[in-house]
This record gives sequence, structure tokens and C-alpha cells, in this order.
Amino acid sequence: MKRKGILIMVAAVLLLSAGCGSEGEEVDVSEVISDSIVTKIPMKYSHVFLIRGSGGYVMVDAATEGSLPEIESALTGLGISPDEIGLIILTHGHKDHYGGLKAVKELTGAEVLCHENAPSYIRKAESEPVVAQNFLGRLLNRLPELPSPAVEPDIVIRNETDLAPWGVPGRIISTPGHSIGSVSILLETGEALVGDTVRGESGKISLGMFYEEEEQLWKDIAAVTAAEPKVVYFSHGGIIRGEELAAFLENRTVRQGL
Ligand SMILES: [Zn+2]
Ligand SMILES: [Zn+2]
Repeated sequence: MKRKGILIMVAAVLLLSAGCGSEGEEVDVSEVISDSIVTKIPMKYSHVFLIRGSGGYVMVDAATEGSLPEIESALTGLGISPDEIGLIILTHGHKDHYGGLKAVKELTGAEVLCHENAPSYIRKAESEPVVAQNFLGRLLNRLPELPSPAVEPDIVIRNETDLAPWGVPGRIISTPGHSIGSVSILLETGEALVGDTVRGESGKISLGMFYEEEEQLWKDIAAVTAAEPKVVYFSHGGIIRGEELAAFLENRTVRQGL
């Protein structure tokens, strides 16, 4: 019992230091894309994003439970009324991304869209499997789970989905390497939002320590880079140039000798 307690304490400290992650240099998106339609709302654990469409906004993820005041004040600061948000896309059913979803859905009245592999978890206030790939990950997995109110999604997708019906020039693709219900968003402006498929900051990007399957993750990254994004937004970490993600993929290929 004693050993377990110490392990959990160590894991808690590590998680907190990881969560607080001071972010390094971010790409100044306006220098790369003159017509950016993405706004990042930086959060402590997983960031929230807004995509400006022709008739309103699409929100991506809703952070942890209790994030509503922060999201609300960010919207106020941006001059966006909650009812201008017509859709919330959930990148996947991990609790750091959907803990705040119920409250944000109630605030905005927006529909919630997710991949078909996520609802069986989020409607029961459960998490999609969080598969640890190393010792630290297994340690962190011993921490008590984040509280996350159950949410019933309104729209469930299986394959590639056009965002045109929501006035957004872009599409959602399934990227199940991180978790079985993970999706990424590719916009025609040259912006890509990859959820937890990749994380980190410029010069320090990684696959993270929690993912279902490495081979699938590389396929997911290849699917994102095939769209030749100019900038890539991470849910955990910063914003990088698309070329950096392509180089990350390429270097892995070199290491594998393929
Ligand atoms: Zn995740
Ligand atoms: Zn996450």
C-alpha cells in the first residue's frame, strides 16, 4: 500500500509538471497563412480551438471539467457569442478533451460530433482506452481518472467527413493511432489540427507516451502530411510548421531503414 501511495505521488508530480508545460516558441500563424480561420484557446492540459466558418464557428474539444469559465471568458475576449458556435468536434474520447464538453454544449447549444468509436465511452462518462507505452505512462495511468460528465453525441462519423455543411472549408479524417476514436481536421487554408496524434513544440515533437499503435500513428501522420498543411496545431503543446511534421515522418522512415 505504502509503495503504491509513493508511486501515485511521484506520478502526480510528473503529471502536474507535464500539464503545466511552459510552451516554447510558437509559429506566428499570420506570417505563414494570411487567411487563417483557426484561433487557439490555450488551456492547461489540452487546448481548445475555434474554426471560423461562413455562418458561425466550430469548436474543437472542450478541455477538462471545470474549464467553462476560462472558455467563456476567451469567447468574450474574442467577441464571439456562445450561440455562434454550431458544432463541437471532439478529437477523441479522452477525458482531458471531453471533461468540459457537457458544460460547453449546454452553454452554446452546439451539436457534438465525434468518431463512431468514441460514444460508447463518453456516454458512460468513461475514457477511451489510454494505452501507456512506457514506465512513466503506466505510472500516470495509476492516478485517479479526471471527472468527466457523460455526453451523448449528436453526430457520429465513420470515414472522412466534409465540413462544408458547417460552412468550413475542410474535412475530418479518422486517425486512430492515438486512440480508436481519434480524428484530425484538415482545412483548405493549410491548417491541420491533429488532436493527440502528435504533441510537443517546434524542435521537440513526439508521439507522446500514450497511444494505441505506433504503426497506425505513422500512417495517421502520413495522412496529415499528404494534405501538405502549412501549420499544424497540437492539442498538447504548440503550433508547428507543416514541413517540420513532414521531416519528423521522414526521419522516422530513415531510422527504420525503409
Ligand atoms: Zn488523448
Ligand atoms: Zn490529450
